[in-house]
Parts: sequence; structure tokens; C-alpha cells
Amino acid sequence: MSSRKKGVFIACKKCKALSEPGTQVCPVCGGTEFTEEWSGMVIIIDPENSQIAKILGVNKPGRYAIKLGST
Ligand SMILES: [Zn+2]
Repeated sequence: MSSRKKGVFIACKKCKALSEPGTQVCPVCGGTEFTEEWSGMVIIIDPENSQIAKILGVNKPGRYAIKLGST
């Protein structure tokens, strides 16, 4: 049996951007490695004025995972 969850976003291993399952190339950084193991979604609307964007090192609006990997 697979423990794979359906309908869960996948996180880019490079920039932590969350994409729809099945995405091949990260729209934010162009990375091609993704993981389903992530936790804590944050939506960045205005990266220039967002503390969390600075902490995550994000400079594009979008959905991001706070943490990658299983806990
Ligand atoms: Zn990325």
C-alpha cells in the first residue's frame, strides 16, 4: 500500500515554493526536484514587506512551505 496523499501540494526542494501535484518545473526558481514531505504553508503576497518572506529568503509572491522533510 502506498502512503502517498492525493491532492497535497508538492514543495520545491530549492526554494520551498508549493506547486500542484504533477508540476515538473518550479514556476518560481525553475527547479525540478520536489518533495511531498513538507510542513507549514505560508502565502506570501508582498515579499518586500513580509518578515516571513525575508526569513524564508523568498522574493516572489506565492505559496511556500516553512519546513521541508518529514518531522
Ligand atoms: Zn523552486
